[in-house]
Amino acid sequence: MIPVYEPSLGKEELENINEAMKSGWISSKGRFISEFEESFAKYCGVKYGVACSNGTAALHLALTALGLGKGDEVIVPTLTFVSTANTVIFTGAKPVFADSNQEYWCIAPEKIENKINRYTKAIIPVHLYGHPCDMDVIMNIAKDNDLFIIEDAAEAHGAEYNGKKMGSFGDVNCFSFYGNKIITTGEGGMCVTNNIELAEKMKILRDHGMDTKKKYWYDRIGFNYRMTNIQAAIGVAQLRKLDTFIRKKRKIAEWYKKAFANLDKSRVIKCHPEMSWAKNSYWMNSILIEDSYPITRDNLISKLWKRGIETRPFFYPIHTLPMYNKGDRFPVSEELARKGINLPSSANLSREEVAFIAETISE
Ligand SMILES: *Cc1c(COP(=O)(O)O)cnc(C)c1O
Repeated sequence: MIPVYEPSLGKEELENINEAMKSGWISSKGRFISEFEESFAKYCGVKYGVACSNGTAALHLALTALGLGKGDEVIVPTLTFVSTANTVIFTGAKPVFADSNQEYWCIAPEKIENKINRYTKAIIPVHLYGHPCDMDVIMNIAKDNDLFIIEDAAEAHGAEYNGKKMGSFGDVNCFSFYGNKIITTGEGGMCVTNNIELAEKMKILRDHGMDTKKKYWYDRIGFNYRMTNIQAAIGVAQLRKLDTFIRKKRKIAEWYKKAFANLDKSRVIKCHPEMSWAKNSYWMNSILIEDSYPITRDNLISKLWKRGIETRPFFYPIHTLPMYNKGDRFPVSEELARKGINLPSSANLSREEVAFIAETISE
């Protein structure tokens, strides 16, 4: 079975884990945590990193530190992982959905503007499956309307917009290091920001809201969203390999695109896009199964499974999930979700495996 994703782990990770174990610092203190925070923030071109227990916690920390809550509205794409919207609900604010861009699948800037009203406080652009959002346009909308930007970069470690790393645009930007993300710590997340006050606030919030000078004194309701030193030990080793992973993933994308060139040209399959301003991380190498493909998308998924190839349908748009469904329609997101599949995408895929997958789909 070729899985849709598997982590690439080696002896470097194991050595760091051993060091953390031997030091006795296996909880949320220890040298790997600050090293991971500093080196990851630096990688993104941002000053401060705040490591936490997962990507969802990172989003919740960011939104809380920015002071979002009851009465506020936050604009999010409907075509994303569910926690982008759930974390807005956690704070008491309301997620307001926007449709996707047809060409590159992320939130469409022109669909953001008509969602803005006097309650709107923030936008969460999500770099879906590794493709950056159109950040210049989104940053201008935010500036004109005095809104916060929180990048959900959980799928876009190392991706770039006009040569600038994702995670370096918003007020606070969030990453996940879940087992199937581009780099992993098992479970894990990080907020990065250039604002030292926000960084300090998030460090307090992840540690129950405890005062940094007066131990066991709390002046707000906080969370336990700390990352362990063992997770950070894995993260430090993974980060050193991130550029190698991205290079390989871009190579894999190139192999898929070459193999699908004819089907793409005849509009039977649409390959994963990359706009002129984008460097796609290709977290998930994804394709659209167009209506002219002889069998349905779901039928294709089950046929591939029988041949030993695991694939995954795109996310269900969040506005269609029971908790969020108010009967609104977002036609572009709905169409993408109906047609899209994620192909096997791990950095350790071989050329032969990619050829086998592409041949099976073409056949
Ligand atoms: C993975 C992911 C998250 C959440 O990360 P967890 O670490 O699983 O909590 C949030 N947003 C997006 C877009 C993701 O892909």
